[in-house]
Amino acid sequence: MVENNQTTKTISVEKYGIKNAQVNYQLSSKALHNETLEKGMGKEASSGALAINTGEFTGRSPKDRFIVKDEITQDKVWWGNINIPFSPDKFDALYDKVVNYLSEKEIYVRDSYACADQNYRLNIRVINEYPWSNMFAYNMFLRPNEDELEGFDPEWLIVNAPGFMADPEVDGTRQHNFAILNFSKKIALIGGTGYTGEIKKGIFSALNFILPVFKNTMPMHCSANVGEDGETAIFFGLSGTGKTTLSADPKRKLIGDDEHGWTAENTVFNFEGGCYAKVINLSAENEPDIYNAIKPGAILENVEMDAEGNVDFENTSITQNTRVSYPIYHIDNIQQPSIGKNPKNIFFLTADAFGVLPPISKLTPGQAAYHFISGYTAKVAGTEAGIDEPVPSFSACFGAPFMPLHPTKYAEMLSAKMQEAGVNVWLVNTGWTGGPYGVGKRMALKYTRAMITAAMDGSLEEANKDNYHIHSVFGLQQPRTCPNVPDGVLSPRKTWNNDEGYYKTAHKLASSFKQNFKQFEEFANEEIMAGQPLGGE
Ligand code: ATP
Ligand code: MN
Repeated sequence: MVENNQTTKTISVEKYGIKNAQVNYQLSSKALHNETLEKGMGKEASSGALAINTGEFTGRSPKDRFIVKDEITQDKVWWGNINIPFSPDKFDALYDKVVNYLSEKEIYVRDSYACADQNYRLNIRVINEYPWSNMFAYNMFLRPNEDELEGFDPEWLIVNAPGFMADPEVDGTRQHNFAILNFSKKIALIGGTGYTGEIKKGIFSALNFILPVFKNTMPMHCSANVGEDGETAIFFGLSGTGKTTLSADPKRKLIGDDEHGWTAENTVFNFEGGCYAKVINLSAENEPDIYNAIKPGAILENVEMDAEGNVDFENTSITQNTRVSYPIYHIDNIQQPSIGKNPKNIFFLTADAFGVLPPISKLTPGQAAYHFISGYTAKVAGTEAGIDEPVPSFSACFGAPFMPLHPTKYAEMLSAKMQEAGVNVWLVNTGWTGGPYGVGKRMALKYTRAMITAAMDGSLEEANKDNYHIHSVFGLQQPRTCPNVPDGVLSPRKTWNNDEGYYKTAHKLASSFKQNFKQFEEFANEEIMAGQPLGGE
C-alpha cells in the first residue's frame, strides 16, 4: 500500500523568488504517481511501480558539481576537481534565473528531513519542476508526520529544475547542467539534469560537511544493518560494489543502504528514508527483498518494459545504471527508527575486476586506514568492442565525489572511532574470481553473503584463528576456510589456475595502490603506511 499522508496545507514560494507558480504542496506518493502518468511523463509497470526516464542524464555528473566558495567554505573545503569552486555572485545570478524559470509554472513542493536521529535532524524543503522528482524526494528523504508538518521550519532548500538549461558563458557553469551547494544560503541548486540521484547526493554532500565540522559526527558512504543480537554492521563501498544488495539481508534489520552518520554517542543513524537500488540483472531469486520492494510507491528509472509493463532487467539499452527508489518501509525487516549501536563489524566492499583480491580478508587497523583512504574499486569498460581491460578506480573514503573536506579528515575520525569501538574490519571483494573481467566471472552472491554472515557471527574468526594466510602481495589476512563456502573460492590465486598471470596482475594492482597513495603519504603515519601492499612498486 502507498502511504497516504496528503495534507490540506499549502504554502507560498514567493519568498524564494518563484512568482505566480501553481504549487502542489506535500502531495501523497500516489497523487504524484498519478500526476506523472496524467502528464505523460511516465508509465506504470506491471508491478504497480512508476517507471520514468530521467532524460539526458542517467547518472550523476561529477564534473558539474560545484560548491560556492565563501567565508564558510573557503578554508575548510578541499578544493580541486572534485569540489569545484563557484563564485557567490554567479550563484545568486543563476539562482535568480532558475526561480524565474520556475515562476508561472506548476511545481511540486515537499517538506522532508534528513537524519533519522532527531539530534541531527536537518529539515529540507524540496522544490521540483517534475512530479516524479518530488516523488523521489518522498521516497528517499525522511517523511515528517502531520504534527511535524505544522510549523515545519525548513533549514535547507533544494531547487530542482531539470528543464532549465544554463548558459555556461554567462552562468559560470561547465555546460548546461549543474548541481551547486551553497552552505551560506543553505541551498542545493540543481538544473539541466533530471537524474534523481543528484537530489539525494546533494544533501549527502552537504551533510558530509555539516556533520564533521559542526556536529562531531563521522559521515559515511555506507549501508548498515543490525542483527538479532543487536550488533550493527556497516558496509562501505563505491557505486556497484554491493552496499544496497548486501545490506538487504532478511535475517537482519536494515538501517539504511547508502548514507549514515556515526555519532559521538556511539550510534549509527541513517540520513535517508529510502533506498535507491541498482536493478541491472535483478532477479527475485538472488535479491528477493529488492525485487519485492518494486510495487506501487516505487519509481523505476530508465528501464525497458514490454507492452504489459514487465520490466526487462537485463536490458541496458538506456543505461547500465537502471535504478529503483522506494521508501524504506518497502523492505520487510527494518530497524525503526533507522538507528543502530556502534558497529561491531565494518566491511569495505570492492568490485575488483582484476580478480586478484581475496573474496574476504581481515584488516589490521593500519590496513583499514590505508584502504579507507585509498577507496579502491575497479571499473570495467562498458560494452565497447575491443575494450576489456579493467581500470583501477580510487575514490578516497569510498565516496570522494561527496566529500567536501580533505579525505584525511574523515580517515582520522574513522580511525579514532574504530579504535574506540574495537571493530573488526574486513575487505570483501564482490568483483571477479577465476581471472580478470573478460576471463573470470563475478563472485557468486551466495558466497559473498555466506562470508559476510560468517564474519558477523564469529564463525569465520573461529575457523581461522591464528591461521590466517598472509597474502604475499597485499599483506592481507586471508582466511583458509569459511562456513558454507568451498575452500577453493577463498584463494583467488587458485581460482585463476595460472600462477604467473595471477601474480603479475596482483603486483600491477599493488603498484596502482601505491601510485595513488602518494598524494596522501605526507598525512599518513607509520602504522598506516605499514598497511600498504607488500608487493608492487
Ligand atoms: P550505489 O552506491 O551506486 O548505490 P551499491 O554499492 O549500493 O552502489 P549495489 O546496488 O548493491 O551497489 O550493486 C551491486 C550490484 O552487483 C548488484 O547489481 C548486484 O546484483 C551485483 N552483484 C553481483 N555479484 C555480487 C556479489 N558477489 N556481491 C554483491 N553484489 C553483487
Ligand atoms: Mn546503493
